[in-house]
Amino acid sequence: MSEYRKPASEAGALRLHLNENTSGCSPRVLEVIRAFAAEDAAFYPDYDATYAAAARYFGVGVDSLLLTNGLDEGILAATAAAFRARDGGLPEALGVTPTFDMYEICAGGLGGHWLNVPLGRDFTLDNRAMLEAVTPRTRIVFITTPHNPSGVAVPAEQIVALARALDPVLLFVDEAYAEFRGGSVLDVAMLAALANVVVGRTFAKAFGLAGLRAGALVASPRTLVPMRRIVLPYTLNAVTAAALPVAIDDVAYRERYIEEASRSREMLANACARLALRTWSSEANFMLVDVGQRAHEIASGLAARGVLVRDKSSEPGLHGCLRMTTGRVADTERLIGALEEVLCDARG
Ligand SMILES: *Cc1c(COP(=O)(O)O)cnc(C)c1O
Repeated sequence: MSEYRKPASEAGALRLHLNENTSGCSPRVLEVIRAFAAEDAAFYPDYDATYAAAARYFGVGVDSLLLTNGLDEGILAATAAAFRARDGGLPEALGVTPTFDMYEICAGGLGGHWLNVPLGRDFTLDNRAMLEAVTPRTRIVFITTPHNPSGVAVPAEQIVALARALDPVLLFVDEAYAEFRGGSVLDVAMLAALANVVVGRTFAKAFGLAGLRAGALVASPRTLVPMRRIVLPYTLNAVTAAALPVAIDDVAYRERYIEEASRSREMLANACARLALRTWSSEANFMLVDVGQRAHEIASGLAARGVLVRDKSSEPGLHGCLRMTTGRVADTERLIGALEEVLCDARG
């Protein structure tokens, strides 16, 4: 794949196909947006308060933080920085399959090559297989924890071991869903000791700010230097810059959603067990469900009932699988109801 294709989405349908926070953003963020003044739109944004709030949230100094226009931009900037770093031949990016599609899209878009290693049984990461796939041209390696689309998390020790073995190749640890497992797997001391690691975070998922576009790279200050040169100085727009400190401050809003996501996972896992559908233990706000041979039909059946899920069944390693957002409990109840109906129809 070389270009991102936005999945189809019927207006008015329940969006459980992009892992968005369907409860919307914090009401306090909306207040900030409504209070926006003419000058706020006219002047270039000041990021001091935004950086201070985000650095406090991640528990790092501002020099260990680079805010980006969504984590997607962080992936692009890290790839661009890694591709510049050394010369000789077509640069390569390495990841796993199945995986989040932006790594390949960014590597290809920047004129590099994308290589991937299949994940092991039950979506486990195999360090040895990854290391064996590294070539002299490999500049950046992507892992995702919790993994998208399975939700399976990678243990911290395994990430540290992989980083050490890869050094000086850059290891990008995409933690877009870190909030749902209680925070980053890598503490500040680990990050300081691993100069070839960059952690990707986003405010799109747990914070419900996908539409405002705010992401972050967290790494030791030296590691971020080449990426800072690539990310444009005013990449966050003024609305997002003003909204972020308020969003970060609204802990209660976020905790409620994270708690609902946890209950939703349990509800969906139990429903799937009842329906004899296989699931994997997820630590994110979504779950992968193996619905079998008729995955396309089941996804269409859900869509016909106004519930959108992500059909992953034609991707390698995901035969029969649909990815479903498990966020708000009310949405999960609706999803389970629709799934029961569709399966009842499909099984005749
Ligand atoms: C959603 C997602 C992102 C992108 O986040 P944005 O901040 O919306 O760009 C990155 N990585 C993974 C694994 C994701 O699921």
